[in-house]
Amino acid sequence: MSLEALRPHSVSPAEALVEKTAKPESVNWYVTSICNYKCDFCFFTDRGFRASLDKPSPLHLTKEQSMKILTMLFEAGTKKITFAGGEPTTYHLLPELIERAKRLGMTTMLVTNGTGLTDSFLDSVTGYLDAVKFSIDSPSNHTEYRMGRGYGHHVDEALMAAERVEKKGMIIMLNTVVSRLNLDEDMTPIVRKLRPVRWKVFQILPAMDMNAANWDKLKITGEEFQSFIERHSKLMPIVEDNETMADSYVIIDPIGRFMQDSGKRHVYSTPILEVGVMPALAQVGWNYLMFLKRGGRYELPEHRK
Ligand code: SF4
Repeated sequence: MSLEALRPHSVSPAEALVEKTAKPESVNWYVTSICNYKCDFCFFTDRGFRASLDKPSPLHLTKEQSMKILTMLFEAGTKKITFAGGEPTTYHLLPELIERAKRLGMTTMLVTNGTGLTDSFLDSVTGYLDAVKFSIDSPSNHTEYRMGRGYGHHVDEALMAAERVEKKGMIIMLNTVVSRLNLDEDMTPIVRKLRPVRWKVFQILPAMDMNAANWDKLKITGEEFQSFIERHSKLMPIVEDNETMADSYVIIDPIGRFMQDSGKRHVYSTPILEVGVMPALAQVGWNYLMFLKRGGRYELPEHRK
């Protein structure tokens, strides 16, 4: 499959008609808020998540509850699931969730900083995990350190983890957040080395209950973001500015609520287990057309699935 086939496509009138009842065909599940890094731009921090809870509450679902949600999602039309966080590899149930999702028939993906991709972890998910999306924002370990992404070795460690992932036959993707600290950098060496099937480039997104304290030092304008994109156009990034990202993801939090970033502040639904997938999703809403426009619907190359 060519890179072109994996790029965003235009929305047909027929697709537009189904927006109101659109099924959550692609879901991002933030299975934990725990992370071993402290990125200044983090969109889902442990502190922010805890502050969203009205009363003392478990911070994770039980295994039984998690498996039930996976089944409910599948029955509601979910075909692709991306496990994220927090750092999802810190969550002990992750391998079992990946296996169950794959056995249900979903495409399975993982967003990770790479630190948990040990040989034993990869062995436990081989055959069940289709793709790994690495979070790397800079060719420089030092820049990553300045952002809070790791402790001075993030780039080197992530690239070594990518070699282990590739040996297992999993697909590699790359996610990059552009902020004031890496705006002028050149990601070409990283993209050429990693050869991701998709390289997604995000404009840093304000989430006032998550990254507000760092916003002034990190924020960039739409024009500045565009200049980063133009400098990297030969590498064919999938581009997501603030407008594109807003409400175009279906996200579940660690306790099984849908979460949406409405008005730069996260809002949460009633737990899925209490009211069902579609009623809970309707509480927070999502922008199906923008999901299609940003290229959220795509197939992974068959030979590596
Ligand atoms: S690695 Fe991801 S989850 Fe962890 S702090 Fe950074 S952005 Fe947040």
